Amino acid sequence: LRAADPEFVRPETLDEALEELAEPGAMPLGGGTSVVMLLKNGLIEPSKLVFIGKLGELAQVGESPPGGLRLGGTVTLRELAESGTVRSTAPAVVEAASRVGNPRVRAVATLGGALAHGDPRQDLPPVLLALGATVTLTSRTGSRTVPLDGIFQGFMETDIREGEIVTHVDVPPDPNRRCIYHRFTPASDHDYPTVGVAASMSVASDGTVLAARLALGGVADRPILVSEADEVLGGRRPSDSDLKDLADIVRAAVDPIADERGSESYKRAMAATWTYRTVKSCLG
Ligand SMILES: Cc1cc2nc3c(=O)[nH]c(=O)nc-3n(C[C@H](O)[C@H](O)[C@H](O)COP(=O)(O)OP(=O)(O)OC[C@H]3O[C@@H](n4cnc5c(N)ncnc54)[C@H](O)[C@@H]3O)c2cc1C
Repeated sequence: LRAADPEFVRPETLDEALEELAEPGAMPLGGGTSVVMLLKNGLIEPSKLVFIGKLGELAQVGESPPGGLRLGGTVTLRELAESGTVRSTAPAVVEAASRVGNPRVRAVATLGGALAHGDPRQDLPPVLLALGATVTLTSRTGSRTVPLDGIFQGFMETDIREGEIVTHVDVPPDPNRRCIYHRFTPASDHDYPTVGVAASMSVASDGTVLAARLALGGVADRPILVSEADEVLGGRRPSDSDLKDLADIVRAAVDPIADERGSESYKRAMAATWTYRTVKSCLG
């Protein structure tokens, strides 16, 4: 480390980590896959890095309550991708986690880091939004559990406050749930998605949609939840025209940022196309 580099501490317990993080300028370090790049580019200047990536207390994956999931903040993306519990409860989480970056990234990147980084192109946020997940944030002064939807506030901006750690994420149970995640990458498969679409639906045995949630990544300054999805698909066996209506709503609702993955209008078109395809596969 250079003289100007932040202090590095490795607490053994959550309580010790929260004590360290109470210091102004201290920052949690999960797998470090984003933090290291931000540091190298001079975009962040923490006084202290508090390494929580190996905190066993936050490394649990469990079916809790039955049919639901509790995922600890330091579970790695590889652990999510390889978990049989996650696969049987919410296979879209496995799909998203297993497609992030490359094996080296997935081996160390954590769930907490994947949410706190707040990059709108990331794979996991739309999936967890579609699943109606909540996130529990803990600081030295206590814990709060909030819908994930309220966390993303802008490009790499979240409502996670200084001193707080993502301790766990809960996915509620739903015996009728079907969920799916599609990511579209026209260039390399290892790239961030141009658009990622996640659908989660509660479907009765006769095909009636009891509830529907749809979320997208890569098409705004933050991952977005499309609140109209339930209105368009819910309470019926959706027709092809319902799916096209939803795709049109998405086309109008997104606000993409043009970059090397496409122009604003291309991403808008892809958001609509992949909404249609994703919802169709979820229902099929
Ligand atoms: C080469 C490469 C390719 C990538 N490709 C993709 C991709 O295709 N799709 C995709 O979705 N992502 C991709 N990523 C981004 C990757 O998902 C994130 O870098 C990773 O999820 C961040 O997790 P981390 O544990 O390494 O976080 P860190 O880098 O440790 O931290 C990131 C941020 O989260 C905070 N933080 C970490 N843990 C917690 C916690 N428990 N509570 C509160 N705050 C916390 C840190 O303080 C920091 O602000 C890629 C990254 C790289 C380097």
